[in-house]
Amino acid sequence: MIDESSVSQSNLQEAAESLWNLLIPHITYLSDADKELVQLAFWQMVEAHGEQRRKSGEFYIIHPVAACINLTRLKLDASTLAAGLLHDVPEDTHVTLDEITQNFGTEIAFLVSGITKLGKVKYQGEERYAENLRRMFVAMSKDVRVIYIKLADRLHNLQTLDHVRVDKQRRIALESLEIYAAIAERLGIGFFKGEIEDLAFKYILPQEYEDLQSSSHLKIEERTRIGDDIINSVTSILSHKNIHNIKVYGRAKRYYSIYRKLKDKDISITNMYDLFAIRIITRSVDQCYEVLSELQQEFEFLDYRLKDYIAVPKANGYQSIHAVMIDPKSGMDFEIQIRTEEMHEFAEYGVAAHFSYKQHMRGEKRLDFVTGDNLKWLQEIVELGNDTIDKDEYIRRVKLDLFNDRIFVLTPLGDVIELPMDATPIDFAFHIHNDVGIHASMALVNGHPHKLSQPLRSGDVVEIITDKKQQPKPDWLNWVVSRQARHGIKSALSRNKH
Ligand code: MN
Repeated sequence: MIDESSVSQSNLQEAAESLWNLLIPHITYLSDADKELVQLAFWQMVEAHGEQRRKSGEFYIIHPVAACINLTRLKLDASTLAAGLLHDVPEDTHVTLDEITQNFGTEIAFLVSGITKLGKVKYQGEERYAENLRRMFVAMSKDVRVIYIKLADRLHNLQTLDHVRVDKQRRIALESLEIYAAIAERLGIGFFKGEIEDLAFKYILPQEYEDLQSSSHLKIEERTRIGDDIINSVTSILSHKNIHNIKVYGRAKRYYSIYRKLKDKDISITNMYDLFAIRIITRSVDQCYEVLSELQQEFEFLDYRLKDYIAVPKANGYQSIHAVMIDPKSGMDFEIQIRTEEMHEFAEYGVAAHFSYKQHMRGEKRLDFVTGDNLKWLQEIVELGNDTIDKDEYIRRVKLDLFNDRIFVLTPLGDVIELPMDATPIDFAFHIHNDVGIHASMALVNGHPHKLSQPLRSGDVVEIITDKKQQPKPDWLNWVVSRQARHGIKSALSRNKH
């Protein structure tokens, strides 16, 4: 992230010059010609946005530069960086897309147009939102770099979300989680997925975020200390066995993924074995297995926890060996991930890893990635846009396609409640409080009566009306999907029998 205190806030020229100096060290991987292209885009962007300011009061030009720096972390090519710098120009300034085409060519203009929002005149509200989303998916299916720019843009918006109105914060954070983190996950871009999730989590579930931060703090520190010991002994064991040139380092689990795991698996944080794990990056696939077998001779492993995603990759292409060993000193379980450099880059950067500046000369950057089997989902989303369905249905189905296991609904006060897919008002009621669940007699969804047995949809505002005389019926067990509700109903049923 950019430290804005180092950027002048009164003089545009000075601000621009210091931003350019901030950007230079991030683009050393580009050729001189490519650096020049980025520089041209940079000054065009400065000229276009001029004195515009962000909500925080900073010069607007800080935002495209921050987005561009996010893109350099994935070592994307010069056209993508240029488009990243220009991404808000046609929408927010006097410089049009046609001018960008004239100055930078159709390729860069195409990337910019993929995330340029439609004018407010023709479309409004939800309809405009759905149409923008549809266009983005189409553009992305033609050139995957469009989504990298969108993710880089969104990441910086989340990093600066404190300056935005509270109700807007929630909406942006929720959309980031529901759409953008989900796309990043589908594309296997661990870097964007993790960063976006952790930032959005803080705004959507602030209390949970804080609780987790305070409860896992010590835990992670303790693990880190033990982890450092293990890293040292692993490194020395492997070098004794003549395995050199590998990287061994620790990695702390991200907050949102801890939260998800605690919820899904019904375990407490004290039983989580992978708050901190170690990662071993090797030089070849053979070396991955060699490292594993050497370590198995020295340490005790939990065999049932061994997962070989190298032999059987995950659906998004992720590859790695996951194993859990027992630290001989503390007796603590410890997760180890073993993978090659290439697998590691793919896990962090997804398709962009195959898209690096090295293999791609200018002019042949279009990646024919939609044909890949694991990207069929994108094709389906694009086709969805051709169906004659209304805007609400379109948005709902996109979210459903991206995120097929959970929904987010709201209380009348605007609190976000996360529930499993197909959850009903009864699940919601038990989530609020056991008594609300037991005495739920009626539900209002978006202000209208809604059957207690009828599933909710993401974005619904749910209100439960209780009645002291109401008691759970055996039928209710067929209506619910959450563990909490099932448990609450069962114990009420058995209490009532006596
Ligand atoms: Mn932007």
